[in-house]
Amino acid sequence: MTTKTFHARRLPNHGAQSGWTALLPPRTPTPALDGGINADVVIIGAGFAGLAAAVRLSELDPNLSVAIIDADLVGNGASGRNSGFLIDLPHDIASGNFGVDAAAQNRDEILVARTAIQLYARLAQENGWDKDIFDPSGKYSVAMTESGTKHLEEYSSQLKSMGEPNQLLGETETQELTGTRSFKSGLFTPGAVMVQPAAMVRAIADLFQGSIRLFERTPALSIEASSSGCVVKTPKGTVKAGRVVLATNGHAESFGFGRGELLHVFTYAALTEPFAPSSLGGSRKWGATPAAPMGTTIRRINGVDSDRLLVRSRYTYNPNIEAGGGTMRRAGALLDRKFADRFPDHRHLKMQYRWAGAMALTRNSVPLFGQVEKGIFAACACNGIGGTKSTSAGIATAELLLGHQSALGKVFSAFDEPQALPPRPFTAVGARVNLAYREWHAGRE
Ligand SMILES: Cc1cc2nc3c(=O)[nH]c(=O)nc-3n(C[C@H](O)[C@H](O)[C@H](O)COP(=O)(O)OP(=O)(O)OC[C@H]3O[C@@H](n4cnc5c(N)ncnc54)[C@H](O)[C@@H]3O)c2cc1C
Repeated sequence: MTTKTFHARRLPNHGAQSGWTALLPPRTPTPALDGGINADVVIIGAGFAGLAAAVRLSELDPNLSVAIIDADLVGNGASGRNSGFLIDLPHDIASGNFGVDAAAQNRDEILVARTAIQLYARLAQENGWDKDIFDPSGKYSVAMTESGTKHLEEYSSQLKSMGEPNQLLGETETQELTGTRSFKSGLFTPGAVMVQPAAMVRAIADLFQGSIRLFERTPALSIEASSSGCVVKTPKGTVKAGRVVLATNGHAESFGFGRGELLHVFTYAALTEPFAPSSLGGSRKWGATPAAPMGTTIRRINGVDSDRLLVRSRYTYNPNIEAGGGTMRRAGALLDRKFADRFPDHRHLKMQYRWAGAMALTRNSVPLFGQVEKGIFAACACNGIGGTKSTSAGIATAELLLGHQSALGKVFSAFDEPQALPPRPFTAVGARVNLAYREWHAGRE
């Protein structure tokens, strides 16, 4: 019997705590794995992908024993530190001469996104999550420039041609929403959901009991795969399981999967100190993505008697899957400028929390999905829109493992393999130039 061993060459280091986690009450983590256990399936990674895989596995077979391990605490990974937009529509509507293919591609992207949103909507309803965790409020896109406005208008008419409801906002309406004169126009799409990401992933993790066991602060150090199953080794224990779900995002590559195919990109966020709600007009709760894809996201979050603003911007290429101090400082300065440009009357507000988070992209924008080695299934690399795509990758992986047929499974099984990136020095230069160009192109947006 041959055994193949995949060692984790690198473990995640998520960096500074996110503002989302900092705002939550303390939580007692589940204990780290100590000793040897058996499970039908072991899931490595408790972000959107891993948690969704666990939920779907237990829905399909409540008797299946599932162990889920994460190197860190639930909520500390990208899934707990993002901007909290669960977006139901493609960023870019496919079009062009291949009308049928384009329509099918748009439909598939929407199916992937809405399947994820439906899972969370169901959990929200079953478990009485309030709107501070999961708010099906829809979302805005806002434009600061004429070209941004033009982009929103074009996007709006593309959505209309697909039968997707949306509403353009003029300058006055956008200012009434945001309380600032910086935005010239907006677009509302009703199907998106705004979440408190750290609260939501914690809420899911806290549902697990019985046949699903979660072990936090339990890094997988190696995976041994043989015809009799898999063994995952952790610092103080082992999990023997029939199958492994790798839900580690870019850290798939740390085990040698997707090597030379994953582009490790970081993005950055900051949350202001609290301010008196009356000091800024507009609605007290809204979220807006930028009119240009590589632009700046803004959210206003309302507390009981104070509000905060979140700003997210900047993309950097970090092949070692860590953002160092210098990168954080430069990103922080940029975020401050973006914030001041949008809220000049509130530029005095200090950023109380600043953080970064990792995303894994592929050259052809497909996930690293499916069986990557006998018994090992990947649900990784969701190209920066993991709120929905990682979630659905987790659902589709669970269905694949249990032989459950679904429309979602068809979409995932039809994805191409990730394309190889050019050799690393070329990738590094290419990625940095490309990100810089696209950020420049986004301009003030
Ligand atoms: C600042 C920011 C804003 C964003 N905003 C949005 C947004 O608004 N909407 C959206 O859709 N997406 C957004 N994203 C992207 C989104 O957060 C990610 O795509 C998504 O979280 C990926 O989920 P995942 O489950 O695939 O991976 P992750 O959340 O990265 O989870 C992987 C988990 O694997 C664990 N892990 C890794 N290696 C090991 C190991 N060896 N052993 C055990 N555990 C391991 C990690 O600790 C981690 O918890 C944003 C990202 C950032 C950083």
